[in-house]
Amino acid sequence: MFAGHFGVAAAVKGKAKDLPIWVLIVSTQFLDLVFSLLVWLGIENMGNPIPGGRGNVIHAEYSHSLVGAMVLSAIAGFLATRIWGKRNGWIIGFVTFSHWIIDLIVHVPDLPVLPGNIGNLPYMGLGLWQFATWSILLEVLILIIGALFYTIFTFNESNRKWTTRTVIHIVSMILLLVLSFVIGV
Ligand SMILES: [Zn+2]
Repeated sequence: MFAGHFGVAAAVKGKAKDLPIWVLIVSTQFLDLVFSLLVWLGIENMGNPIPGGRGNVIHAEYSHSLVGAMVLSAIAGFLATRIWGKRNGWIIGFVTFSHWIIDLIVHVPDLPVLPGNIGNLPYMGLGLWQFATWSILLEVLILIIGALFYTIFTFNESNRKWTTRTVIHIVSMILLLVLSFVIGV
């Protein structure tokens, strides 16, 4: 679910004009960036592929624990507040956390509640990745919704006129989404 997160960034960008698109994209992928760093440090690891499905059963006890994701989202939101103000800080916090919500839908139960899986609570994950076709459909759906939201907001923003600028913005966003899907599949 690489591209799906981009769909969220596109949807939000339509309404959060002051936030650069790259900041929104980094926010949607922030948990995976922290995960990559922890994999590199040998603290978390990629685990094994899900047989017959998409994605892996990962070992991300810190970056993808519920509480860990909340803390990372709060940090991202706090940092964004310093630069882009309070409203945008909240937006970045929620966008960062949206990663965990989407992961919850697709991951097989490998998401712990507490960092380090303290207390050995049951792992979470609804497991859509076990069904490759359905998980691709969900991803495409999120991308379409993202593109639609972005198009509507951007069109309204230019007083409901198809200016060259509006068309360029919308076409570039759709290209970015398609590209992220092609790279992610
Ligand atoms: Zn993730």
